[in-house]
Amino acid sequence: MTETKQSVWDMTLERLDSTMDLLNLTPGIRKYLRQPRKVLEVAVTTKMDNGDIDIFTGYRIQHNTNRGPGKGGIRYHPDVTADEIKALALLMTLKCTVVGIPFGGAKGGIVVDPKKLSLRELENMTRRYTFEIINNIGPEKDIPAPDVGTNSQVMAWIMDTYSIDKGYAVPGVVTGKPIELGGSLGREYATSLGCVYTILSTLKVKEIDATDLDVVVQGYGNAGYHCARILYDMGFRIIAVSDSQGAILNKKGLDPYKVLSHKDKTKSVKGYSDAQDIDNETLLTLNCDILIPAALENQITRSNAADIKAKIIAEAANAPTTPKAEKILVDNDIFVIPDTLCNAGGVTVSYFEWVQGNLSYFWSEREVKLKLRDIMDKAFYGVYKVSGARKVDMRTAASLLAVERVARAIKLRGIYP
Ligand code: NAD
Repeated sequence: MTETKQSVWDMTLERLDSTMDLLNLTPGIRKYLRQPRKVLEVAVTTKMDNGDIDIFTGYRIQHNTNRGPGKGGIRYHPDVTADEIKALALLMTLKCTVVGIPFGGAKGGIVVDPKKLSLRELENMTRRYTFEIINNIGPEKDIPAPDVGTNSQVMAWIMDTYSIDKGYAVPGVVTGKPIELGGSLGREYATSLGCVYTILSTLKVKEIDATDLDVVVQGYGNAGYHCARILYDMGFRIIAVSDSQGAILNKKGLDPYKVLSHKDKTKSVKGYSDAQDIDNETLLTLNCDILIPAALENQITRSNAADIKAKIIAEAANAPTTPKAEKILVDNDIFVIPDTLCNAGGVTVSYFEWVQGNLSYFWSEREVKLKLRDIMDKAFYGVYKVSGARKVDMRTAASLLAVERVARAIKLRGIYP
């Protein structure tokens, strides 16, 4: 069974359309939500180490800013397209609204393989990209954060470039910064901790005993590694993990810390001594209780959905499941915690970082975790309630909640002029 390749933008619009149908929104509001507010494409001219220049294509896209400034990560990846960034910006609008934080949705990216650049080239490219989008970002306008291929060092360079332009330090222009520059404690693993909180809530509502559960994690970057580590520390068995190079399995359980040291040394989880190598596709269909896609979009498709044996899928990644695959999963009684809820812990602690930076008053790690748990639990049970009341799956419930709130914000603000 092959699935005609549908772009992540088309998939996201398809889901938005069905939510708007259920909400019976007016044609005007429907058009408004289908269209990003601002799409910026820039040529990122970069000085390379060999003395020549190279030019990379960059984007910053704001989908909606009715409830607050745009918020969303910056992705460095060779497959970045304007459509992908538009879709991820729309998902950010929904995500910020699901967890009730006062941001709109935005996203950015550069079409580049960052692994092929030296540190100096990466810095040159990041600073030039910041310069090209400088009038479109800012603490009150649009606040970038890390995503695939970027990290706290990249955020530090963006903050520095922006601050040099303004003439004073502006920590609030990005989140996911190093702690020394006003980053929040707990931000590095917030996406994963939020994801774990939604898993714990799922186990509670499904009355599943949290002992002796097998977990599979796809992707061993920021989101995937911390999910594996936190769950391992709580007593879950991590039986398999993967990265772009390959996957490993040990049915008796892996030690995520040791797997990370192996990956740090060899650049991949592949070849880890206390496990067998398996291929990436097999990983998704392993016998397990919880599957965490934490890599890229479009991973669970019509081609593999019927073979998935997990009881719970926790979407740490954005848009890992296609709509056709989701139908199969729901028919097979698999509980999907949707991305807009499951990975919202990252943007929630980004919000905390922004608040702390604006007030120049910083919280303890314990405070951050408690506040995150409060928000994630409230969001989970809010979505779960709608899901029960309207007899829809969790993704539809999360979208109904979010789209209704954004539509209300648009109506309340009115249309200028
Ligand atoms: P990252 O770059 O740190 O890690 C990505 C990982 O996925 C890497 O280990 C990479 O090797 C792996 N990968 C890529 N293609 C793969 C494939 N086909 N099979 C298996 N592994 C593959 O990125 P990240 O920040 O961890 O982001 C991962 C996902 O989580 C993305 O969808 C991102 O949008 C989402 N997300 C991240 C955050 C965050 O705070 N970092 C927040 C919300 C959502």
